[in-house]
Amino acid sequence: MRYKFDICVIGNGIVALTAALMFAKTGQSVCMVGPPKSNRRKKSIDRYFSLSVASKEILSSVGVWEDLLSSDHGVVNSIETWEEGESGHIRFDLPDMFLPPMSWIFSEKQLLRVLRKRFDRKKISKISCSVSSDTSVDLGSPLLLEDGTLLDSSLTAVADGRGSPMRSLLGIQFRSKDFGQSAVVANVVTERSHDNIARQCFLSKGPLAFLPLKEDVQSSIVWSVPSDDAIRLLELDQQQFRDQLGEAVNFTLGAIHDYTSVASFPLEYGIASSLVKNNFALVGGAAHAFHPLAGQGLNLGLLDVATLLECTMSRSILNYHCLENSLRRYHGWRKGEALK
Ligand SMILES: Cc1cc2nc3c(=O)[nH]c(=O)nc-3n(C[C@H](O)[C@H](O)[C@H](O)COP(=O)(O)OP(=O)(O)OC[C@H]3O[C@@H](n4cnc5c(N)ncnc54)[C@H](O)[C@@H]3O)c2cc1C
Repeated sequence: MRYKFDICVIGNGIVALTAALMFAKTGQSVCMVGPPKSNRRKKSIDRYFSLSVASKEILSSVGVWEDLLSSDHGVVNSIETWEEGESGHIRFDLPDMFLPPMSWIFSEKQLLRVLRKRFDRKKISKISCSVSSDTSVDLGSPLLLEDGTLLDSSLTAVADGRGSPMRSLLGIQFRSKDFGQSAVVANVVTERSHDNIARQCFLSKGPLAFLPLKEDVQSSIVWSVPSDDAIRLLELDQQQFRDQLGEAVNFTLGAIHDYTSVASFPLEYGIASSLVKNNFALVGGAAHAFHPLAGQGLNLGLLDVATLLECTMSRSILNYHCLENSLRRYHGWRKGEALK
């Protein structure tokens, strides 16, 4: 079978779903190409993300923000950082002219649920099949999927994450640097209230962040440690983990009473050598990977999508020379931001 769409989106994560919804909203025909069900890995833990005001605007524009706000979520009204041993304590508050919060905390599952619901309601086309390694990526050639389907599109947004198989097929290099660190992630119950403050302690081996969740004694932690230490932390029994976590931040929130399952994620810094090739544009994790220290990866991925839309909307992308200029602009704009 051969199909034609204005826009193809490869991936099925938060960035891919947002891209499909944003382009569909402009009246363009969109098809999302996600991996076959058999390739989907079960997530080891429901991760929490801190979303910026810009992400709020983007998610509002695709009509999912109200839905998100009506579900349980954390809010950040201030940020506190300090160094191990309590030195260099800094607190960031919003200037008086801004209304709180500074950011919102949602889980990956929540974000995916509301985006999928909206996606289904909009009846956007979806194919669950990988792109074939035999596909041509030449301009004007259709994408070949593993089941033999051919897809023609004017523009393809590549949102298949950090290991992006499509980026490899395009021959775009991913220049990465292994930090030699992993992020240990867990959701914890503390003795004292977090008071809607996001806390980050810069320990000698890496930062440890506490993100406030809806319940005032619940936080999501991201503890960056050398990869060997991460293995060791995952092997601790419950009591030992709670004690070590509490001690690491000098019991700022009192004792750690409880936590849900712990998981670890390898950390790397990386950026694609080019964010565009022919009529393909990389967005989100396919384009860049960051240390979770500032919690910016997803926020930047959503901004990639908004920028791609802005760069390609004003010109007729059916004309290749216009598309080439638009994508060059997208590359310069977003690569500059990612490098910053
Ligand atoms: C510990 C940790 C904490 C973080 N905290 C924050 C935070 O607080 N705030 C923030 O902004 N960012 C945060 N990030 C960064 C954030 O996780 C990433 O930037 C974000 O998940 C990237 O989203 P994505 O949709 O581009 O990629 P992914 O979430 O990786 O999704 C890619 C999708 O593509 C699909 N896919 C894979 N292969 C194929 C294929 N062949 N064909 C089609 N689809 C395919 C996958 O199934 C997946 O669903 C954190 C990262 C880590 C590691």
